[in-house]
Amino acid sequence: MNLELNGEDLAFQEEVRGFLDEAWPRQIRTSYLAPLSGPDKNRISETQVYFDALIKKQWSVPDWPLEYGGTDWTVTQKYIWDRETASAGCPVMSAFGVRMLAPVLYTWASEALKKRHLPAIREASVQWCQGYSEPGAGSDLASLQTKAVLDGDHYIVNGAKTWTSSAHNADWIFCLVRTDPDAKRPQQGISFLLIDMRSPGVEVHPIYLLGNQHTVNSVSLTDVKVPVENLVGEENKGWTYAKGLLTHERTGIAGVARSRVLLQQLRTLTQTTIQDGGSLSDNRSFVEKVDAVDIELMALEITELRTLATVAKGGAPGPESSILKLKGTEISQRISDLKVEALGYYALPYPDQLLSDNEQKIGPDDALTTLQAMLFGRASTIFGGATEIQKNIVAKAVLGL
Ligand SMILES: Cc1cc2nc3c(=O)[nH]c(=O)nc-3n(C[C@H](O)[C@H](O)[C@H](O)COP(=O)(O)OP(=O)(O)OC[C@H]3O[C@@H](n4cnc5c(N)ncnc54)[C@H](O)[C@@H]3O)c2cc1C
Repeated sequence: MNLELNGEDLAFQEEVRGFLDEAWPRQIRTSYLAPLSGPDKNRISETQVYFDALIKKQWSVPDWPLEYGGTDWTVTQKYIWDRETASAGCPVMSAFGVRMLAPVLYTWASEALKKRHLPAIREASVQWCQGYSEPGAGSDLASLQTKAVLDGDHYIVNGAKTWTSSAHNADWIFCLVRTDPDAKRPQQGISFLLIDMRSPGVEVHPIYLLGNQHTVNSVSLTDVKVPVENLVGEENKGWTYAKGLLTHERTGIAGVARSRVLLQQLRTLTQTTIQDGGSLSDNRSFVEKVDAVDIELMALEITELRTLATVAKGGAPGPESSILKLKGTEISQRISDLKVEALGYYALPYPDQLLSDNEQKIGPDDALTTLQAMLFGRASTIFGGATEIQKNIVAKAVLGL
């Protein structure tokens, strides 16, 4: 899809491209456009160099308000930025701090908390994780049981969080905790608390996902002492902040620009894959499947632009972000499925389990990581609010059913 850009936007696009050519050189882009299944030392240092350049340019958190170190870019400029960085395969700073916690902090937190945490998030010097889900509270988040009891100038926190992404690498966790077990509605007794992961009583245990990946954990909290100043906003108002955060999380999860890049990779793969003596692009039924997902992605892009236009007029992303999350994740799963289908048996072995360093890889470079990316992608229709829950929201809040 071509967005009509005015002269100012085209100049901005040139500025972004010039910056990326310097900060994220073309020779390292190709490997980043392929999925990665495990840590890679080169990547970690290249990513840091890129983040440093972003921070220096004051472009590390473009969505934040200017007063907290963000930008005053227009909605179109932010759209250009997302598109250009996705097509260049740029690394993205962890969403937990930048996209989820930060809007809660600059909207509702005390000046002291903003001052303490926003600069560290902006400069990627402190990593955050999200402590919402519990063994008995996922979609029905308001039934969460982790308790925080006020004791002088501290809360004493007891409970367990689960599916906590990146807890094993995080310095801090933002948690939903129950501060009023007797509230009339479960939503009314919840507070939003920031907990230092080094506090005594915090324990992290790995959970291994399909494909043997360790990205999520369970976190147990036993008599954890949390200073009362780590409470965000007012006690028992955490549900309001949590809902605000989820709206931001869902808009981010749509990943339209990233899916556009993956679709382009799929089309290239279709042309280069040999099948029955010809190329896979001669296989009409396969190409039709790719075209169908392309059409869905175009429709999603237009929906995203409509949401952005609402934001440009001063509105906030509302329940429409559920549509973006719902369709965006389904589309990216379909693209991943088709990539695996195109690769056929090249995609089959798990690199960690079946390949030693000395064995020669066969097939396209990203063949082995494609299956792991596809397996991990199954989770995208679960986290950030499962697809069925998004459908309930759309039915009620968007369609008025
Ligand atoms: C890889 C991964 C990473 C995650 N990272 C985090 C994280 O960092 N922090 C965090 O807090 N959480 C995280 N989560 C948890 C995630 O948010 C929950 O898994 C999700 O909210 C679903 O909750 P649940 O697993 O308890 O499933 P359940 O809520 O038990 O749902 C089970 C099934 O029932 C369906 N269902 C439930 N209620 C309804 C309903 N009312 N109507 C129709 N269908 C319904 C669901 O859609 C789902 O298909 C992560 C999950 C995964 C898989």
